[in-house]
Amino acid sequence: MTARAPSLVQANSAGRALNLLGDRWILMILYLAFQRVRRFDAFQSRIGLARSLLIDRLRRLQTAGVLEKARYQERPIREEYHLTDMGRDLFTVTLMIIRWEARWFDGAAHPVHRLKHACGKPFTPELRCGHCRALVDPRDVYVEDGPGVGTDPASPPRAQRRSIVASGTLTDGNPMLDRALQVLGDRWTARLIAQAFMGLRRFKDFQGALGVAPNILSDRLARLLTLGVLRRERYQLRPERFEYRLTETGRDLYPLIVELNRWGDRWLDGGKGPPLITFHRPCGHRLEPRITCDQCGDLADLESVGPKEPTP
Ligand SMILES: [Zn+2]
Ligand SMILES: [Zn+2]
Repeated sequence: MTARAPSLVQANSAGRALNLLGDRWILMILYLAFQRVRRFDAFQSRIGLARSLLIDRLRRLQTAGVLEKARYQERPIREEYHLTDMGRDLFTVTLMIIRWEARWFDGAAHPVHRLKHACGKPFTPELRCGHCRALVDPRDVYVEDGPGVGTDPASPPRAQRRSIVASGTLTDGNPMLDRALQVLGDRWTARLIAQAFMGLRRFKDFQGALGVAPNILSDRLARLLTLGVLRRERYQLRPERFEYRLTETGRDLYPLIVELNRWGDRWLDGGKGPPLITFHRPCGHRLEPRITCDQCGDLADLESVGPKEPTP
């Protein structure tokens, strides 16, 4: 018998965002939605997902308020999916996914990694502090309880089943996001990384913070070691014990976690305010992320980066 997982975990906005987004199909749908894919058949042909699964994911995104249906033909009735304001606000999250993938996994091989900014140059998006405008290093921040501090239910069991199904085949035609989807497309993996940024390193600590079964935790830790996001370090000889630390590649996921957190704070706080508040130590102000172009320094957002060729 394994120990029963705790039913509550400490609330954090990145975790809440991942409860919704930490699914490989959902991330692909969003990625395509930002390429202006809008119709069911277009999603289906680009993702190659079974009809029932695609319907399920689109419905989830509608229920969450990320997508909405709009009618584009009356007879017969035909509808397409549009991003809501809440959905469009995920643009910088997808930008951070592309950024990470392009920086660490041979971006040059995949044209889709070449982001172009309104200044006319190919660029890499950067995370800066909205107050002092300095680049943000994960070692330069600290976190305090916010007005919405509390607990959330641990992830429901269905997430575990879904995670196990979601391996491999989706990205065969879309290899550009493969690594990022391995990390983010599984909510345990992604939450694990979020906790690593909170300073957790040991098996028991991850287990307690995530409310995850030990076998699932072992599996996800192994995956992250293979991906080069975590490394293992021995901290005790007898009995031999290891802790898990972020590698340089792993630490570079920080801008993505910050963006997930920002989005969760804004849209999923249940009216209570953020559960946690991040401060930028060098300037002492609350960290308001600002995503900029590394070439010209201006904001990198949907308007300045948007897709060049709309897909009907
Ligand atoms: Zn600052
Ligand atoms: Zn620029």
